[in-house]
Amino acid sequence: MPVMSFLRKTFLILSENSWLHQFIMSHGFSKNMASRFIAGETLQDAVQVIQMLNKKGMTATFDHLGENVRTEEEALHASEIYFQILEKIQETKISSNVSLKMTEMGLDLNLELARLNLEKILAKAAELNNFIRIDMESSNYTEKTLALFKQVYSSYKNVGVVIQAYLYRSEKDIDDLIQIQARVRLCKGAYSEPPDLAFPKKADVDRNYIKLIKKLLLKGNYPAFATHDPRMIEAVKKTAQENRITPDRFEFQMLYGIRRDLQEQLVQEGYNLRIYVPYGTMWYPYFMRRLAERPANLLFFLKNLAR
Ligand SMILES: Cc1cc2nc3c(=O)[nH]c(=O)nc-3n(C[C@H](O)[C@H](O)[C@H](O)COP(=O)(O)OP(=O)(O)OC[C@H]3O[C@@H](n4cnc5c(N)ncnc54)[C@H](O)[C@@H]3O)c2cc1C
Repeated sequence: MPVMSFLRKTFLILSENSWLHQFIMSHGFSKNMASRFIAGETLQDAVQVIQMLNKKGMTATFDHLGENVRTEEEALHASEIYFQILEKIQETKISSNVSLKMTEMGLDLNLELARLNLEKILAKAAELNNFIRIDMESSNYTEKTLALFKQVYSSYKNVGVVIQAYLYRSEKDIDDLIQIQARVRLCKGAYSEPPDLAFPKKADVDRNYIKLIKKLLLKGNYPAFATHDPRMIEAVKKTAQENRITPDRFEFQMLYGIRRDLQEQLVQEGYNLRIYVPYGTMWYPYFMRRLAERPANLLFFLKNLAR
């Protein structure tokens, strides 16, 4: 196995290791270590970051860090936090929508509970004229998440979902979502997946991403291209230009703290750019997935551990 894919797999396995999670969280390294990718631990920290991004001409999507909650109370609490986020966006007039994970809404515990939590958030978002994006988690949840999405989409149109180019099933999923004109965020995919479900080679993931760009740009509804990969970004720009699709009909999305140079460049070129801004104390799995994408970030991580 090539070194990079070995490191990627190792970090992804560690991202689910509860001992390491506890160890890291209990040793108070948090602020320095995570601050490169995470807006802060409080809602106010995230608001300040989004205000700064808005000043630079970027919109945002708010994410409260948390996944795989273990009790129904935790799921309910998470849904209440999303209420606070939506109200805060309204109150501060920042330009931001919201991203959430279904396992934070209780998907591991009770499907009905997760759906109810989601619907309450969608109703609140509709009242405040806001939009909710359902992040996509590992392939254990793809089917359930898409089924839930389609269920709520019949009543709420202020919701979109995420498709991961590394899964073989994604082309068919995109076709289905285009049929109902649902809003899709396309990403490569951040979890460790088996070769019977996902392309093991990065080159194949990239090829599929480019294929899906075309489908979404030509027939989709305001697609979002979530990537920091200059080749994917070029493919979006080129396909849009060749098909006379104006930049107001799609957006790019990037993660807070990653490729700020590219972020600024896209805004200067007149493209819509939304930054994914995570905040909260449960940053460990998110942080480990970022290390998995770029093991060079490990140096930064180790420097902080040494301090
Ligand atoms: C807005 C947004 C939302 C996302 N939502 C989801 C989701 O719901 N579900 C999901 O599975 N995945 C999600 N992802 C993650 C995504 O699937 C990829 O894991 C991640 O974006 C890395 O892929 P890439 O397209 O940037 O390309 P890559 O080929 O991984 O990277 C291209 C270049 O980007 C830079 N880069 C990428 N990652 C990092 C990093 N961690 N640190 C520093 N530089 C980096 C490097 O310069 C690298 O060479 C999301 C990503 C974004 C941007």
